[in-house]
Amino acid sequence: MAWTEQREVPGAPARLWTPAKGGRVKCTACARYCQIGEGQVGLCGIRGVVNGTLYLFVYGRVIASHVDPIEKKPVTHFMPGAKIFSIATTGCNWLCAYCQNFDISQRRKVEGIEVTPEEIVETAIRYGSHGIAYTYNEPTIFMEFAHDVGVIARRRGLINVFVTNGYWTPESVSMASEFLDAATVDFKGNAEVNFLRRYVGIPDPEPIFQTLLEIKERTTIHVEITDLVVPEVGDDLEAARRLVRWVHDNLGPDTPIHFLRFHPDYKMMNLPWTPVETLERHWRVAKEEGMNYVYIGNVPGHPYESTYCPGCGEMVVERYGFDIVDWRLTKDNRCPSCGYKIAIVGSPPPDYGRSKRFVPVFWRKS
Ligand code: SF4
Repeated sequence: MAWTEQREVPGAPARLWTPAKGGRVKCTACARYCQIGEGQVGLCGIRGVVNGTLYLFVYGRVIASHVDPIEKKPVTHFMPGAKIFSIATTGCNWLCAYCQNFDISQRRKVEGIEVTPEEIVETAIRYGSHGIAYTYNEPTIFMEFAHDVGVIARRRGLINVFVTNGYWTPESVSMASEFLDAATVDFKGNAEVNFLRRYVGIPDPEPIFQTLLEIKERTTIHVEITDLVVPEVGDDLEAARRLVRWVHDNLGPDTPIHFLRFHPDYKMMNLPWTPVETLERHWRVAKEEGMNYVYIGNVPGHPYESTYCPGCGEMVVERYGFDIVDWRLTKDNRCPSCGYKIAIVGSPPPDYGRSKRFVPVFWRKS
């Protein structure tokens, strides 16, 4: 394995693109649909044209890797308690002014440890992981690489999880359907258009809604919804209500929805942390709209980190931060008090609590 900087080698040919007018190519990995000329790169900085072909420069180049609990993604209703081998590349298709991972997402450089898909899966297994997450930066920009890792991972019995902004295309959905098991689709600022234009750099959230509909209609991917609530500029309750109503009406009331606390970062150091009361107001709006599983994230110890039975209101899974403190469901994931079937896929692994779920990764050099 070697450390690569910049574009000494072009990575691998991309597969999500079509020829465009004037010798350009149209990238179809994300909803930006960049039209890229010879020698140029798309907005994400890691897909570019070499000799008339679109290349994914970060194919086989991992900039960050860590074993995390699946709850950190956050995913709480699919394989709870799983250990997830998490990887990222450089680059991103969004320009979030508050990005916590801006050093890898926004630097628009091609850097990382060179690893093959096989080596990634082997390393994930060596660390005792139950799956692989494609996270920290936006994975749809490196969809072909994720696909090739994910297909091998699935063959070896691992699950695949995306932490994504959902700004995909129908072509990305098709490729993801071949390996992806779960995705947490991460809205920002209640998906309010002015917030997205000013702080994210996209014109509107429509492609995200289209992606969610396509995922629902054409795949079996488990979906959870996240919304980063940014104080003062991205915390409008009416926008939150519209977002929740859309999720309720189109994805169903059992879709888990997480309201995440913002903390100051990158270009938005001037704002405070989101007040907990603001998050609680969002929680109440989602419950009023009929959602069954609503959570508050990044507030360790808050009672709304836990799962409550929609049938009788009993706490059925108690959490603290990313940990499951008490798993009270029956073997077939029903409420022990009223028998209501809780919409959680899987249960904590038998050795849950006896092995570390936050582990730094050291790659073995060959
Ligand atoms: S993945 Fe990158 S190059 Fe492709 S459309 Fe999106 S921003 Fe543009």
